[in-house]
Amino acid sequence: MSSLGVCESTGCSKPAKLQCPTCIKLGIQGSFFCSQECFKSDWKSHKIIHTLAKGDDVKDGQVYDPWPQFNFTGKLRPFPQTPKRTVPLGIGRPDYADHPQGFPLSEQAVKGSGVIKILDDEEIEGMRVACKLGREVLDEAAKVCDVGVTTDEIDRIVHEACIERDCYPSPLNYYEFPKSCCTSVNEVICHGIPDMRPLKDGDLCNVDITVYHRDFHGDLNETFFVGNVSEKHKNLVKVTHECLMKAIGIVKPGEKYREIGNVIQKHAQANGYSVVRSYCGHGIHRLFHTAPNVPHYAKNRAVGVMKPGHCFTIEPMISEGTWRDEMWPDKWTAVTADGQWSAQFEQTLLVNENGCEILTRRREKNGEPHFMDKM
Ligand SMILES: [Zn+2]
Ligand SMILES: [Zn+2]
Repeated sequence: MSSLGVCESTGCSKPAKLQCPTCIKLGIQGSFFCSQECFKSDWKSHKIIHTLAKGDDVKDGQVYDPWPQFNFTGKLRPFPQTPKRTVPLGIGRPDYADHPQGFPLSEQAVKGSGVIKILDDEEIEGMRVACKLGREVLDEAAKVCDVGVTTDEIDRIVHEACIERDCYPSPLNYYEFPKSCCTSVNEVICHGIPDMRPLKDGDLCNVDITVYHRDFHGDLNETFFVGNVSEKHKNLVKVTHECLMKAIGIVKPGEKYREIGNVIQKHAQANGYSVVRSYCGHGIHRLFHTAPNVPHYAKNRAVGVMKPGHCFTIEPMISEGTWRDEMWPDKWTAVTADGQWSAQFEQTLLVNENGCEILTRRREKNGEPHFMDKM
């Protein structure tokens, strides 16, 4: 039963067969190191895994405190991250996968042009396949999202589900994002980084999946209930999903992209919620993020009119309190400025002659999102 691992020490990828003795005792999988030196250099962050596994009462942030000067807006704290996962080289990769700073050069080349690509039949078929696979990966994440499961474990499942389907997990190394999906818990609006924090009863956890398959990206996300969620937070999630569905309802040829924000804000505001302004929906096909830009707030100045063959996402982020956001020092995690909670749903859409096709739709349970199973 001995398997050869890769050294877990940050920055080392040598083969490793030394296993942490405490991890063996506690039944923690993995934890391989190539040498005593690497084991020692990683000890400070590694030992936190032991504390968590023993179920000791760790006050958030007390053990692991990477930014002692930072004022958090809410109760959530960062936990240690596991080493970066790798994708077999046989799987087709986007350009940024191997760029030292994760720059998507193909995206940057057309930035600012504002031209919205009209996909031909072959490209539409490519999008259909990528989006269907993305949906399958999200459904796998939904199965494991539960009390006590770390967001890193969700990331591991997502990473492996992508590889099984001949997909590269699009977030991995995009502008150096370190993981294969985004997991955004409670006051995190979006772009949360999977880490060793075990999900708690009552949490909201959004999982955002994008897969890259044979040259095309498919992008979707859902917010999941963890254990018993309060009625107040269930309502936030329900209304956020309604905002997305109402917005999808107006998608058709001739509609202006700027109308989407009016529909979303009207419904959010009527329910006492606010709409996040810093993050928008986006065009998607061979490029992960491109024209059009799709704001979710009212009276925006988005450019463009929908045409058959356009592919883009709608992904409203709806907050209980302020619409203002702040960023953690990791330069990714976007949180609400007042620490109140935020929810999100996303689908990738194809404009057709009659309206649109939801390419990332759920293909069972009447297409309802997973949270409805628990309402
Ligand atoms: Zn997404
Ligand atoms: Zn997106």
